[in-house]
Amino acid sequence: MTAPATTGGGRAPRPSAAFDHAAWARAHDELIAGLRDLIRIRTVNPPGDEIRAARHLKALLADAGIPSTVVEPFPGRGSIVARLRGDGTGGAPLLLLSHLDVVPAPGGGWTHDPFGGDLADGYVWGRGAIDMKGMVAMEVAVMRLLAAETRAAGRDPAGDPVPGLTRDVIFASTADEEAGGVHGAGWMVEEHPDWLAAAGALNECGGVAVIVAGTRLWPIQVAEKGFAIYDLEVRGRWGHGSMPGDGGPGAGGTADGDANALLRAGEVARRLAASGSPRLTPVMERFLEGAASAVPPETGAWIRRLAGDGPAAEAALGAVCTDAYRRALRSMLRDTFSPDVLHVGTRHNVIPGAGALTVDIRVLPGTTPDDVARELRERIGEELWPHVTATLRLWGQPVEARAEGELWDVMTSAIRAADPGGVPLPAMSTWATDAKHTAKIGIPTYGFSPLLLGPDDQFLALFHGDDERVSVEALRFGLPVLYDVVRRFCG
Ligand SMILES: [Zn+2]
Repeated sequence: MTAPATTGGGRAPRPSAAFDHAAWARAHDELIAGLRDLIRIRTVNPPGDEIRAARHLKALLADAGIPSTVVEPFPGRGSIVARLRGDGTGGAPLLLLSHLDVVPAPGGGWTHDPFGGDLADGYVWGRGAIDMKGMVAMEVAVMRLLAAETRAAGRDPAGDPVPGLTRDVIFASTADEEAGGVHGAGWMVEEHPDWLAAAGALNECGGVAVIVAGTRLWPIQVAEKGFAIYDLEVRGRWGHGSMPGDGGPGAGGTADGDANALLRAGEVARRLAASGSPRLTPVMERFLEGAASAVPPETGAWIRRLAGDGPAAEAALGAVCTDAYRRALRSMLRDTFSPDVLHVGTRHNVIPGAGALTVDIRVLPGTTPDDVARELRERIGEELWPHVTATLRLWGQPVEARAEGELWDVMTSAIRAADPGGVPLPAMSTWATDAKHTAKIGIPTYGFSPLLLGPDDQFLALFHGDDERVSVEALRFGLPVLYDVVRRFCG
């Protein structure tokens, strides 16, 4: 692997003389070892137990001369923050943001121990390889590289500016992202916003290569959908199971039904789950148009049809996407309603008179809580609505950062420098990250964890999936790109 590439666009990185190929080779080896160690530290949320990972990182940073602060505001829920100084002339800092927790890894579908950190067949295997201990390890590696340069210049990384840096670089790796981040980034934003205050943040999900019709696209996440979690109480009438009605939901006057709450809740779920009409947000418009112009014209024409409504859009989705991307793209183009939990019924001979249904609603930037409430009622329909009480349990604001400005330019230049044929594009995720917290204190947060995935690596399938893994080559590509972005933006 060579040193980070430079281009005419933006400010070029200025690695010190001490920062040679041997130093890069060492950094890559450390990165792989660092990720394997992190995977072996179980931080499954719940319960999280991120404190062990936070302390582990504290030692790694200390070893490079970087002081850090570990906090544990709730038992076991550890987060860590560290800062390297610039000379202060360049403006607000850059925040390298990540989370330490992972989702569970139920047995059955794994060919490697999800917490073994195996290195086999060119991959590091385990829960968190993609989401997102790989990025944690890359961010730590960048901090250690910068500290090494500082020491090589006869300075102390604990307080002296890093040679060539005009902005501070903040490293923050937090607890609890997988459960909403309340015990991690959310807590930090509330209690210590000054620890995180930055001109921009690099976070998870985006910056991962996707190959479409032979062209490598680099979606950089600038937006993410918000969410509304609704609890619905569906009412019916209790009765004897030997005397059911006509099988209808018992609403609207025509079906006499027996007001079976199971049938009503099922009907409510069916109506809610119908695919709604698309709405093209500015980010998705740029994403689709950028992708369409980058690929061969025939594929481009299909991509342009994706934003339409009805059968033409569905046919286009079928033509250009795998199943996982079809569902992802469909969800990026509309608000979605997914009825995910239903509790109804007591015993075999009792017609249930009450049920509880939970709906996971994901909203595009621009959709408000009032819009969701209106749409919910519309979908359920006026004849069923009197039998339903809907309560909004949780609201997560959709977020959107600008796909322009200095940090955007730096990210796209770094990608183009490292992959001259690659096409960086603004993109949106269908799920929420800790960006919803950092957005509250005005930090534009980008999903940019650069990984050069191969054609066989189905990023979306690996996320929270069986046999989660990341290739050594993907990480080897990513580290210099991340370093390049930090150097250019802060240099
Ligand atoms: Zn994640």
